[in-house]
Amino acid sequence: MKAMSDLQVLPLVTDGSVSTRTAGDRLELLTALITAPNFDPLFRTDVIKVPRDHPTYGWGCAVSGCQRAQGPARDFCKVHELEWVAAQKAGQSITEFHMAAVPLIPKSRIDPPPCVVCPDAPAWDARQLCYLHGSRWLRHHADVRGRKGMLPVYEEWLAKQVPFPHFGQCKVLPCPEQASSPLGLCHRHITHYERDRKPGGARPAANWARWIVTRNKPVPIEYADRSLFERWCRETGLANRANGQVSLLGLRPLVKAEIKWALFQHGNNPTEGMIWPLVWVQYLIDDCRDQRVDSLADIDQGNCRRLSRLLLFGMLNSLRQVYFTRDDTKEAGFIETDHFGVRFASCHSHIDLTPISQRWLRDLIWDMFANRLLTDPPKSRSPFDMSRRACAELSAYLEAQAPGGGHDPGTDRLPYGGVRRRPTPPRRAWSPYAETPPYEERRSRHRYEVHSVRHLQRRPPRAPVRVGLR
Ligand SMILES: [Zn+2]
Ligand SMILES: [Zn+2]
Ligand SMILES: [Zn+2]
Repeated sequence: MKAMSDLQVLPLVTDGSVSTRTAGDRLELLTALITAPNFDPLFRTDVIKVPRDHPTYGWGCAVSGCQRAQGPARDFCKVHELEWVAAQKAGQSITEFHMAAVPLIPKSRIDPPPCVVCPDAPAWDARQLCYLHGSRWLRHHADVRGRKGMLPVYEEWLAKQVPFPHFGQCKVLPCPEQASSPLGLCHRHITHYERDRKPGGARPAANWARWIVTRNKPVPIEYADRSLFERWCRETGLANRANGQVSLLGLRPLVKAEIKWALFQHGNNPTEGMIWPLVWVQYLIDDCRDQRVDSLADIDQGNCRRLSRLLLFGMLNSLRQVYFTRDDTKEAGFIETDHFGVRFASCHSHIDLTPISQRWLRDLIWDMFANRLLTDPPKSRSPFDMSRRACAELSAYLEAQAPGGGHDPGTDRLPYGGVRRRPTPPRRAWSPYAETPPYEERRSRHRYEVHSVRHLQRRPPRAPVRVGLR
């Protein structure tokens, strides 16, 4: 059991002054949580740069000294992963593998320093030149060697270079990189634009380099079809996802805040067990951007990547705790243990009660759970799971045997002093167990729960009280 901090769950409202949080105040609510002092500032920005050894979202290869990014849901980079598979087949232990593995440097710089000439442009090549200066040097090198048959002196060439102006951020909507040319694209997206055969035919005016030096003004761009170029910039995705960054650029405000909150919450609750590789997080963000959703709740899961759906489930779980008050959860047919400051080890906060179809019965068990969480929380979730399952069996029995399916609370004088008929087997869809226990065991549980419900009917739990978590 773990008590949540007062930031991790909302202030509890039990007096009815706030009936719901499921309407238009969601963004306001999340904004307040995200700007609170206890929120990790790492997740506040629209471009989240995660340290490679972050305890939850770490992305560096596990080989000591290797600077490459690990594969999603893997420990090693691609090269070391293949080497590890081969080492396993050869009977090597993990310790032997780590001792023998040679650390690698990335093929392209993950966090490049500035160009040695231009202070605002990221370095592109091994000489630490930006894309434009690097291209110029290659042209100069080929020209001198072709004309004079000799190698140019790099230092002489470098001394004549002047810095290019800052071209701003890349025009591709989600791309956080700095632009490397007057076209307004980073060097990776310049390559993508050429690969896509230059939609819209955008190109800088002729002699644009001289234009910058002599006129000190932005370079005019010529288009064959400007709208086509702008559409390409809107619809093109990121060029690099394996760099420890998550780009929320281009998302609508609410879904952006939801993802920030969910990432923060997941970092606080590693007991949930599921890993969230940053590449998969970015896939989900890309799907949200493509579908232009306002909220994660609006996303069409049928049009998502499979990996996006895996993360979406966890993110909606953490949002449900924020968007629903206790009263809302009772109305909707579930209970969140986090709302009571209780989190059982290796369990979600969410307990689904919707398999209990009779509203009066579902409310009774909700009250029973709430009372237990407030007054005497158990050490594990098992008592709740057993009660939930037994009440679901009772619900199924009432549906099949009681007049009107047992939905009328007037039939609360349960027509048995113990169940004599075999109850209808529960539907598999909601059963948390892989195997159904033997009938005798189910019947004894069932009787126990019937007595619990009858006891509750005679002596309802205490009225909920306002409880502060600290
Ligand atoms: Zn590696
Ligand atoms: Zn430069
Ligand atoms: Zn770019």
